[in-house]
Amino acid sequence: MILNRVFRDNSMRNFLACFTLVLFSSSSLWAQLKVSFVDVGQGDAIFIEFPGGKTALIDGGNSGVLIDNFLKAKGVTKIDYVALTHPHSDHYRGLKKVFENYEVDHYYDTRAENVDAAGDNNLRDLAEQEPGCTTHYPKPGDILNWDPKVTVKVFNACWQTVQMHDNDETNNCSLVIRLYYNGNGVLLTGDANSELEAEMLSHFKSGLQSNILKVGHHGSRTSTSDAFLARVRPDHAIISVGATNKYGHPHIEAINRLTNAGARIYLTTAGTQILTIPPPDKSAPGPGIPTVTTEPSVTAAPKFVPLALTLPAAAPQAGDLVSLDQLLDTVAK
Ligand SMILES: [Zn+2]
Ligand SMILES: [Zn+2]
Repeated sequence: MILNRVFRDNSMRNFLACFTLVLFSSSSLWAQLKVSFVDVGQGDAIFIEFPGGKTALIDGGNSGVLIDNFLKAKGVTKIDYVALTHPHSDHYRGLKKVFENYEVDHYYDTRAENVDAAGDNNLRDLAEQEPGCTTHYPKPGDILNWDPKVTVKVFNACWQTVQMHDNDETNNCSLVIRLYYNGNGVLLTGDANSELEAEMLSHFKSGLQSNILKVGHHGSRTSTSDAFLARVRPDHAIISVGATNKYGHPHIEAINRLTNAGARIYLTTAGTQILTIPPPDKSAPGPGIPTVTTEPSVTAAPKFVPLALTLPAAAPQAGDLVSLDQLLDTVAK
């Protein structure tokens, strides 16, 4: 009898110990997903902090200084996954500094070569020389194993060798990925234009739906078609763009399409835009409510202070070519 009792007590203790361990480890895994659309001027740099503790950087902006400052301020020394969406300098140039100053374990690239630039291949050389770093060439449909709780799916990538002269073709080689966590989809489109959007619409159906959209090609009028928005259905749209850039990005046509689709627009000209998706909460079933906060701008003049841009009804008509200054003046009125 006594022996039996001791056995039962020990079993109970072991069971409780295991239960506590499971509870502890699962709660430590269930953390938030944080995506920072870094203010790097005209270009893209997106830093992702996964619930499981890994990190990823998608593009590095046009200069290494701003992304380096951002990562240093966060105390980052190592990045698990670095990706280049496509070989244009406003995406790859900043990544050189990243390979020089940080430990990188995995590098994701396309096989598109920009024949009019040497910088993309210089970056590839740096990735090859990075100790312990593996280079990957993902294909459309791939799932990237970046976090056990976040589904990372590839919708576009140029995984076969191709030489590029044309800017539009290079933009359409953009690595497009979607993060899915706690009922929220985050679609990162690089510089995809409406031709690539149409191609993705024909291959991937409801899987493209994402309540958070990193708008393609810095808000160019040649991206963000109505058909694409009808499928993606974004509530929040982040445009990574530099103040007074020479292209006039973001174009009013794209802004109008996003506004008509009901999306709230955030510009990195106001500063780094930080998206946070909370972990699942059993007491509040349903998707987690995402939040977007702004870090003060490091590049913009003081007049570029709006945290979010939602155009009033009296916005300029499509077809008007407006600079960001004019656009913000309109919004301020
Ligand atoms: Zn770009
Ligand atoms: Zn581009």
